[in-house]
Amino acid sequence: MSSADVVIIGGGVIGASVAWHLARLGVTDVVLLEKDISLAAGSTGRSVGGIRHQFSSAVNVRLSQVSIAQFHRFSEDTDAPADFVWRGYLFALDNAADWAEFQTNVAMQQALGVDVRLLTPAEAAALVPGLMVDDLLGATYCPLDGVGDPYAITQGYAQAARRLGARVRIGVAATDIVVEGGRVVAVETTEGRIATRWVVNCAGPWAAQVGDLAGVDLPIVPLKRQVYITDAFDLMPRDIPMVIDFTPSFYFRREGAGLVLGMTNKDQPPGFDLSLDRNWLDVMITQALRRAPVLAEARIMRGWAGLYDTTPDGNPILGPVPEVAGFLVAAGFSGHGFMHSPATGQIIAEMIAHGAPSIDVAELGVERFTAAARREHNVI
Ligand SMILES: Cc1cc2nc3c(=O)[nH]c(=O)nc-3n(C[C@H](O)[C@H](O)[C@H](O)COP(=O)(O)OP(=O)(O)OC[C@H]3O[C@@H](n4cnc5c(N)ncnc54)[C@H](O)[C@@H]3O)c2cc1C
Repeated sequence: MSSADVVIIGGGVIGASVAWHLARLGVTDVVLLEKDISLAAGSTGRSVGGIRHQFSSAVNVRLSQVSIAQFHRFSEDTDAPADFVWRGYLFALDNAADWAEFQTNVAMQQALGVDVRLLTPAEAAALVPGLMVDDLLGATYCPLDGVGDPYAITQGYAQAARRLGARVRIGVAATDIVVEGGRVVAVETTEGRIATRWVVNCAGPWAAQVGDLAGVDLPIVPLKRQVYITDAFDLMPRDIPMVIDFTPSFYFRREGAGLVLGMTNKDQPPGFDLSLDRNWLDVMITQALRRAPVLAEARIMRGWAGLYDTTPDGNPILGPVPEVAGFLVAAGFSGHGFMHSPATGQIIAEMIAHGAPSIDVAELGVERFTAAARREHNVI
């Protein structure tokens, strides 16, 4: 039987970030388990890589601030290449309730030091030529938001963790979590048992199943999200921000010479199905033409589906599980896991290495689901 100080289950961007942050704090006897044939094979490799400050709760804004600061020094920290494009996020708002909520949230974000602005519809149209703004009440815009490459960040973290001593085991699944006397003592895998006192559940959409291995119920549900890419499209400038048409949860941004488009089906049933839904594409195109009629000239080239790991309040579960000592969760990111991966890695590593994180995330503990929760408003 082998052993490790910490076993991380899940080789997406969260698991890789936790591994690197642990190693950086001197906890190098770490095993990262990934059941699939490569790292980032789950949600991470299917993400559209958006990074934003604009959230409705202060804790999410702080996670973004810490993460974005780390993204800016990622190459220096990990010695790995990383390309980011910082062209901002623009939220287009067409109803009074959301516009009021976003104005309150912008004040909160500004109080936390974020350069975020309220725009008139005309100002939004000037930033995004082709955007239909007649029905908008306003928009919010943060020029410091952007886009990164989740696959490259995962590989960068994993390689840097390996250099510091972490072991990355690809194609190896955790099949059981052995708990004795209320504490984790080992992880069973498809390649044998690993004795350990710490397990971190970074299994994304599979996090509830990994919770089950330890006898813990986690309210994390997989929900399909579909994304499409267009051919080269010259009828909008190259430097437009990510645009979020908030009411229908439709978004688009530049991807090279083309565009990435997506829209959330709010009636999507939970499950692991990854098929593309032709009917949903039609719904999305109808909305795209309404918000930006110029998109009629864009040609969809291909699409894919991925899974959000969602919680009832749209916020992640971060930290220990009270009933099993040594079992921590970093999952349930509800569409924000890439952008919050640096801060999450730091927080989980500090919990293990120092006993407490330097960022207060008490409100993101799993215990909140036994109390009344406030839902994150800006889930796309
Ligand atoms: C279409 C789409 C667009 C998105 N856009 C954005 C965005 O713009 N910005 C953003 O921040 N986020 C976005 N997200 C969300 C983001 O991708 C996720 O929050 C993030 O990738 C979660 O990372 P993770 O490491 O927790 O999960 P994953 O990447 O899913 O990794 C979990 C891993 O655990 C492995 N695993 C599961 N069970 C076991 C086991 N028993 N043993 C070993 N390994 C196991 C899986 O194989 C998987 O590789 C998007 C997601 C999708 C689907």
